[in-house]
Amino acid sequence: MKLTFAGTGSAFCMAADNFQSNMVLETTPSDNQQPKRMLIDCGSDARHSLRNLGLLPNDFESVYISHLHSDHIGGLEWMALANYFVFDGHRVNLVAPRELLEPLWEHSLRGGLETSDHGNSQLSSYFDVIALEPENGFDWQGLHFDVIPAAHVVTEERTMFSYALFGHTKGKSFFLTTDAIFNPDAHMSFYHKADIIFQDCELGPRHSGVHAHYEQLVTLPAAVKAKMWLYHYQAYDKPDAKADGFCGFISPEQSFDLG
Ligand SMILES: [Zn+2]
Ligand SMILES: [Zn+2]
Repeated sequence: MKLTFAGTGSAFCMAADNFQSNMVLETTPSDNQQPKRMLIDCGSDARHSLRNLGLLPNDFESVYISHLHSDHIGGLEWMALANYFVFDGHRVNLVAPRELLEPLWEHSLRGGLETSDHGNSQLSSYFDVIALEPENGFDWQGLHFDVIPAAHVVTEERTMFSYALFGHTKGKSFFLTTDAIFNPDAHMSFYHKADIIFQDCELGPRHSGVHAHYEQLVTLPAAVKAKMWLYHYQAYDKPDAKADGFCGFISPEQSFDLG
């Protein structure tokens, strides 16, 4: 199983040298089978970042959605229409926590997808929708994922969650934070039990409060930082993450062997 970062940038990256933080999880089949691929988040950049990896929308079996910001869902209209019209109706499993599905359709996708062809009036016209109950997680190609609601945007009125993933392959476990505030109380047990941590990390002078900032992450225990890779960063000069005890910043198109 291999995880490749199509991009490692923030929502606002300008595509000059990086794309938004979407990932491709790919099986390594033993015989002559084609690999199966799951796209983890499908942002507005996806048609460009995936093209750079040599992938088309019909190369995916599934897409997982962590939350409804456009760097995570802004490419779904493209994926839906391209697969429907260009790639012979190829269908992708749309895997997402149940509570995201109605707002995903009503507030993000309906305007562009509701009227495209006879009978195409809902999400299931384009995708095989798999509604997750986060407490049950889900299985994909022999891999089990725990789905972890992680506070992302916290206001007085409400909290927007992003659904982080904790994956268990045969050989390795990994924690993928997606987008989350710095929340060591909530995340420390996952940090400790993961073999490898993929952590969203804000850089620069502004602390937005919706992502963990590098200056916060650097305070984590050395044993946690020693297995932590950083992504979802802005295009500021990077600190020397290795000198600070991290594995480093993930580069665009970097892959990880997950066993
Ligand atoms: Zn994001
Ligand atoms: Zn977000």
